[in-house]
Amino acid sequence: MLILMNSDHTKADLEAVLEKVRALKLKPHVIPGAQSVAVGITGNAGALDPREFTVLPGVRDAVPVTKSYKLAGRDFKHGDTLVRVGPYEIGGKGFLAIAGPCAVESEEQTLRIAKAVKAAGAQLLRGGAFKPRTSPYSFQGLGLEGIRILAKAKKETGLPIVTEVLDQRTLEQVAEVADVLQVGARNMQNFALLKELGRLRKPVMLKRGLSATLDEWLMSAEYLLSEGNGQVILCERGVRTFSDHARNTLDLTVVPAVKELSHLPIIVDPSHATGVRSRVAPMARAAAAAGAHGIMVEVHDDPKRALCDGAQALPPSEFKALMGDLSKIASAVGHKMSPQKAK
Ligand code: PEP
Ligand code: MN
Repeated sequence: MLILMNSDHTKADLEAVLEKVRALKLKPHVIPGAQSVAVGITGNAGALDPREFTVLPGVRDAVPVTKSYKLAGRDFKHGDTLVRVGPYEIGGKGFLAIAGPCAVESEEQTLRIAKAVKAAGAQLLRGGAFKPRTSPYSFQGLGLEGIRILAKAKKETGLPIVTEVLDQRTLEQVAEVADVLQVGARNMQNFALLKELGRLRKPVMLKRGLSATLDEWLMSAEYLLSEGNGQVILCERGVRTFSDHARNTLDLTVVPAVKELSHLPIIVDPSHATGVRSRVAPMARAAAAAGAHGIMVEVHDDPKRALCDGAQALPPSEFKALMGDLSKIASAVGHKMSPQKAK
């Protein structure tokens, strides 16, 4: 249920609505809007009677919300969510690039690549310190040492950091350095982790699960939002299908679908979606054309020796050329490449 307040409602009117919701043992969410305030209600098992609210002073209307996700949907919030990351806002009409190695391998490698992606125009630096690998025998990341290296890369380049948090155990330490906490595809439905992240006041990038429907994905976002964290960025990274010519199938139709159904920003990861270097730039360009709010792409300056995902890493020169294309494509569809603001 969404309670729409009159534009001339008083503070006391709003307070009475919140009280009424709490009295029903439900959770109110105040949503400021351009014209007036709305109050979203979550926690009800069945339908609520709109008259319970429309009789209250200052209330314009009470509309049932039929979707299973509520806070993540456009019913609850019409305007686009802008997620603040350092000096940037992700969402709306903006476009930006998150770039860097799949994994933090050493201080030298990370600083080198961080400087290279910065010179190529990237706004944010990515790099995994805790890596979710299919095989327990593969490189698992440098762990906390990797987080320390990312902190150094941030200090030297000024680029905000996007890095994955694998579990609750390491959340605090990762959150100290990360500007955006990445939830990997394999953790999209790790509800315990999502609840913890929902209690933080830090941007979270939620990658789409390997076989997740759009509804399931938005329900995972709902876990974050319902705990009070509205700073959520969605990331499409390809899904499993019968197609075997690529690592995954990049589902670009999900970009306009997300933008219709949700106010949350959506970015695209063409690296994990394709798994092959030659296909990364074409799919990144397609993502910009489809209206994504940005891309996240893996870049390595010595891909043959990369400890993880070298086959899909772009060398810095190719990434730089791609940035030029993206700027033009984004503006052709009404988005604007954010100017780099790192020091
Ligand atoms: C990553 O971006 O580092 C990663 C592991 O991606 P995904 O969770 O999409 O496989
Ligand atoms: Mn990778």
